[in-house]
Amino acid sequence: MSLLSVRDLSVTFNTLDGKVHAVNGVNFDLEEKQSLAIVGESGSGKSQTVFSLMGLLSSNGTSSGSVLFNGQEILNLPENELNKFRANEIGIIFQDPMTSLNPYMKVSDQLMEVLIHHKGLSKREAFNESVDMLDAVKIPDARNRIMFYPHEFSGGMRQRVMIAMSLLCRPKLLIADEPTTALDVTVQSQIMNLLSELQQEFGTAIILITHDLGVVAGACEKTLVMYGGRVMEYNHTDQLFKQPTHPYTKGLLSAIPRLDLNEEELNTIPGNPPNMLNPPSGCPFQPRCEFAEQKCSDSLPDLLVNKDDTKRACHLDSDKIISSSREAQL
Ligand code: SF4
Repeated sequence: MSLLSVRDLSVTFNTLDGKVHAVNGVNFDLEEKQSLAIVGESGSGKSQTVFSLMGLLSSNGTSSGSVLFNGQEILNLPENELNKFRANEIGIIFQDPMTSLNPYMKVSDQLMEVLIHHKGLSKREAFNESVDMLDAVKIPDARNRIMFYPHEFSGGMRQRVMIAMSLLCRPKLLIADEPTTALDVTVQSQIMNLLSELQQEFGTAIILITHDLGVVAGACEKTLVMYGGRVMEYNHTDQLFKQPTHPYTKGLLSAIPRLDLNEEELNTIPGNPPNMLNPPSGCPFQPRCEFAEQKCSDSLPDLLVNKDDTKRACHLDSDKIISSSREAQL
């Protein structure tokens, strides 16, 4: 049994301009201690996918499908039932720690509150456990700095506090939603290394949400690429980097700046992500795809599962995409 099993997950928002189908029939599984990256541009549906399973959609959003966590259905559970899973079983780290931490409360109080509320620890036990967790996320002089307010920490250190908070109850799954976007590149890499180390130490499965494929390399075993609220490709991360089989993945990879190439201009994917109020016909990537043919606007490609459990949704043969990547490298 998988730790997390997502089937036919869809998310719709009712807006003044009409219905927005932000996530459409997403499927994936995550095993214990495994790490999965969900990547795609803004508006691809990656964050709404995980917000829906945590019951964190905005009030105009609805979700359908099935999300099994350790075999138990958690999609659309009542708030009091979901609270048993949040923190205890599933932790989440958001993009901007400053908006997630209470600026009026000392870090000690915010961490201890989690342990007192969810684990029933005494104040002393909660304090010691919180200091230990700040040590684990490598905050120097944790016993003294735990008495600081959030604004007294740097951006990178605040994100470490958030990671510590999300791991306090030893969840089986940690969801990191763009955890390094607000940080500079050096701190970004420190936080990604820290997440990998903590995954090993605590045996936590991780879902990393990011728009930056560059962050994913070396950090996650598998990668799910989303576009227009749909899964475009799913593969082992190494294989995906070596040999992308979907035009959108190929475009995302070629947009990563390369220091080993003397490029005058950065590559981009032409055009913009689709307006989900009025998505294009057929394949959602068709208006921007260099390989698009008539059939691409006529019908939506199915997400096909290969023998090795990799997946892709494209009308074209993977060989055609792979050979074009090789030609571009020559
Ligand atoms: Fe491009 Fe067509 Fe494949 Fe969509 S189905 S990614 S438009 S080739």
